Amino acid sequence: MNAGRILVVDDDPLVGGSCRRVLSEEGYEVDVAEGGRMGLERALDDSFDLVMTDLKMPDLDGMELVRTLKMEQPRTPVLIITGFASISSAVEATQLGCCNYIEKPFTPEEIAKAVSSALERAGREEEAGRDVEEEGSSLTHDIPISISAHHVHLAQEHVEALFGRGRELTPVGDLSQPGQFACKERVNLLGNGGQIDRVRVLGPVRDESQVEIARTEQFKLGLEAPVRMSGDLEDTPGVVLQGPEGFVELKHGVICAARHVHMAPRDAYQFDVRDREVVEVHVPGERQVTFGDVVVRVNPYYRLDMHVDTDEANAAGLVKSGVGHLRRIR
Ligand SMILES: [Zn+2]
Repeated sequence: MNAGRILVVDDDPLVGGSCRRVLSEEGYEVDVAEGGRMGLERALDDSFDLVMTDLKMPDLDGMELVRTLKMEQPRTPVLIITGFASISSAVEATQLGCCNYIEKPFTPEEIAKAVSSALERAGREEEAGRDVEEEGSSLTHDIPISISAHHVHLAQEHVEALFGRGRELTPVGDLSQPGQFACKERVNLLGNGGQIDRVRVLGPVRDESQVEIARTEQFKLGLEAPVRMSGDLEDTPGVVLQGPEGFVELKHGVICAARHVHMAPRDAYQFDVRDREVVEVHVPGERQVTFGDVVVRVNPYYRLDMHVDTDEANAAGLVKSGVGHLRRIR
C-alpha cells in the first residue's frame, strides 16, 4: 500500500527518524533529508505528494526552501514543522495560503492527522484547479487593480541626507503588498525641465533609491524614464531629490514602472500562470481597455493585486481602484 510520497526535511535526525517511522506505518513512502539544501535539491529533482520541512536549519532557512519550492512547483503541498520560537512565521506562511503547519513536539497521532489533512486539502485544491482549466482558456479571472501614484523608494543613507542624521522612515499606512507602507516623508523631484513637489516616500528602505513616475511626468521633469520592473535600474536617468534637510543627486534610478500583477503561488496555480509570464488584463467599463505586457510576479508573500500608474488608470477610466480580468496569452 502506498498512500503517497513524502519528503521530510529536518536537520534533527530524531525528528526525521520518528516521522519516517510513524508515516511508514501509515502506508506512506518516506524520504528524509537532514538539512535544508539537501531537502530543497531533492524536492526539486523529484515529485513528492507532500514536503514537510523544519523552519530553523543551519544551512538553509526553511522559509527560503518553501519560497523556492513554491516558485518552481506551486502545486506541491508543504507542511511546516515548527518549534514554538518560529510559530509566527509558520502562521504567516499559512495565512498566505502556501502551507499547513504542525508544532513541535508532536505525537504520532498528531503528525499522521496533520499529514492526511494537508494531503486532503491539496487534493481538493487540485480538483478546483482542474475545474477551472476544463472551462477553457478563454476563461477570465478577476484581478483587483490598484493605482500607484508617483513615489520614491529610498536607501537609508538618502533618508538621512534628506531628512536628517539618524532619521528613519515614518509609516502612515499599509500598502496592498504585505510589509510595504506609505510614509509621512515626501520629497521634491528636481529635473532639468521642471520639478514635481511633495512626492510620497514608500517604505521599507531599500538598497538603492528608486523614483517611479508616470509617462506624463517625465515631460514635466525633462527626462526619459524607461519602462522597467522595480529594481532594474541599469541605464536609467537620474534626478535630484530635495528634502527638508538636504539634497541627493541620484545618478540613476528614475523609471516608469512596468505594469504588473502580484500574486501568491496559490493564485498562480488557479490562473495557471508562472512567475514572469506576460499576460493581458482587460478592464471593463466606459473606457474599457485591454492592457498587454502585464508581467506576473509570484511570491508567497504577495497578495493578488495589479499595479498600474496614473496614466494607465486614466486611460482605463479608473478612479481609485478597479477590477480587471486576466487573460493568458497562449
Ligand atoms: Zn507592484
